[in-house]
Amino acid sequence: MSGGRPEPAILTLNAGSSSLKFGLFTAALGVMATGLVDRIGGEGSLVLRAASGAPLVPPEGLHRDFADHAAALATALAALGALFPACAIEAVGHRVVHGGPGHDRPIVIAGDTLDRLAALEPFAPLHQPHNLAGIRAAISAFPKAAQVACFDTAFHRSHPFVNDTFALPRAFYAKGVRRYGFHGLSYEFIASALARDWPALARGRVIVAHLGNGASMCALREGRSVASTMGFSALDGLPMGTRCGQLDPGVVLYLMTHEGMDAAAISDLLYRRSGLLGMSGISNDMRKLEESDTPGAREAIDYFVFRIQREMGGLAAALRGLDGVVFCGGIGENSRLIRARVAEGMGWLGVHVDPDRNAANGPVLSPEGAPVTVLTIPTDEEIVIARATTALMPRRKEAAP
Ligand code: ADP
Repeated sequence: MSGGRPEPAILTLNAGSSSLKFGLFTAALGVMATGLVDRIGGEGSLVLRAASGAPLVPPEGLHRDFADHAAALATALAALGALFPACAIEAVGHRVVHGGPGHDRPIVIAGDTLDRLAALEPFAPLHQPHNLAGIRAAISAFPKAAQVACFDTAFHRSHPFVNDTFALPRAFYAKGVRRYGFHGLSYEFIASALARDWPALARGRVIVAHLGNGASMCALREGRSVASTMGFSALDGLPMGTRCGQLDPGVVLYLMTHEGMDAAAISDLLYRRSGLLGMSGISNDMRKLEESDTPGAREAIDYFVFRIQREMGGLAAALRGLDGVVFCGGIGENSRLIRARVAEGMGWLGVHVDPDRNAANGPVLSPEGAPVTVLTIPTDEEIVIARATTALMPRRKEAAP
């Protein structure tokens, strides 16, 4: 991207198994555009949006073959370059699912960082390799730019040992078999939004429910993670679009010994065929389940709501009380039904949702004077990555020879 006087910009990348989400920010962290390349590995599509959310049509068309992440990135960059010809990308911030026990904050990628992050692939085999493919593609596209890794696990490194361990022999903990927790970039955004707009609440005890295709909950005390529903992998806790959530490990043993399933088959079952999709037999999409009147859809919603309520009780116990609840993610930000249904069973904990405020989508959902402040806050993982990347840029420049 060149031409005219270069305007420094920051690119954020979130590389999934077959998708690449990206954001282009000014140096002052204003959004220039966000985008998504879908179905990498075949005939895919590129969607670009302006800061307002309005779609921007890329000049070379929306559909084409994306062989790999590098091809997806090249097409995204060509489209961004055509739209913002003066823009010079000085740093790239990456979402990386796993930082292991050692990383409690973002880092600049340098030296053997990529090798160390690749060594964590066995902990997140469905995500980490794709995240690293995104980093490699960005390094070859922008060899001089600072590359920053922002970890989904980092925010939870503050949690105490009882929420970090399983009751396995110690040797496994030493090998890294721990409760890491995920969705940390989303929780960091919510913690920062609370600190800015709800400072008294931010100093208290808050449960954040990140309810999207992936779903988890996090207990915050004074803005720091105390406990979360996801553990070693992104499978635990709440049921999700296609993931099972909490599961007795005995089920896995049963599947191996009596159903003849190997690790790959069990992984496919638990990650891709379970959750809302598996229970309903219809869809992983909450909107479709809300519209459906089949018993399967109703039971999937009932189970989703019940597990949120159970986890809310457990996280409130971890916090020794509760001052606030925040809903975020596609379901948490939009589904009036799920928010109302969750609150219906939680009045004993002081959680109430006012029907009119819920219908208006908040941001405050609880009635005036309620013991627990219930909010909905749209989360923004990209801005967390962009902020961290900007914060680390000067350090890299100072370190450069
Ligand atoms: P991801 O984890 O992939 O980022 P999102 O945070 O975008 O997912 O959330 C996707 C989920 O949000 C889907 O289940 C979708 O049906 C749900 N959702 C979005 N809008 C609504 C709505 N208005 N009502 C109910 N569910 C919604």
